[in-house]
Amino acid sequence: MIDNYERLVGRLTPRKIARALGHLNYEGGICSKNEKHGGFRYTSTGQCVKCLSEWSKDNKEKVNTRNKKYRDNNPHKARKLTKEWSSKNRDKRNASLASYRASKHQAEPLWCEHEKIKTLYEKAKEYNMEVDHIVPLQGKIVCGLHCWHNLQLLDRGHNASKSNVMWPDSWKE
Ligand SMILES: [Zn+2]
Repeated sequence: MIDNYERLVGRLTPRKIARALGHLNYEGGICSKNEKHGGFRYTSTGQCVKCLSEWSKDNKEKVNTRNKKYRDNNPHKARKLTKEWSSKNRDKRNASLASYRASKHQAEPLWCEHEKIKTLYEKAKEYNMEVDHIVPLQGKIVCGLHCWHNLQLLDRGHNASKSNVMWPDSWKE
């Protein structure tokens, strides 16, 4: 029995095992183009993960066109993939949603410091907190900006109970 199992495992390559388990990546041979890349490869193509990510950075337009074409041809799969990505990357999704909302209200100044804001959303995810606009983007009296100095971390419950009327009082402190 064990003999059979060993023979079977012996015939399975890491890639075949990864495919059977539904893993996206597997550890294969060291990259032939750059040994610093290590051996992580995509199960579907056998391509080096680092090579592809470096290529993607240099070819953003090509990647975008290809992705758009895929999404147009496979709307159901694309929606499922987006959903999966969003639930795994809540911090990134929240940061980009907030930026989108802010731009809609023309509240995102050019000096809004995207990198610092991104870190804040990462911290919020880490501590299970929410990113809050100190002066709300759509306040009744004044509108706040989506920028580093107008953002703070709040406990989830606290943010829900905070109302837009609260903020002018903070000036008196
Ligand atoms: Zn590589």
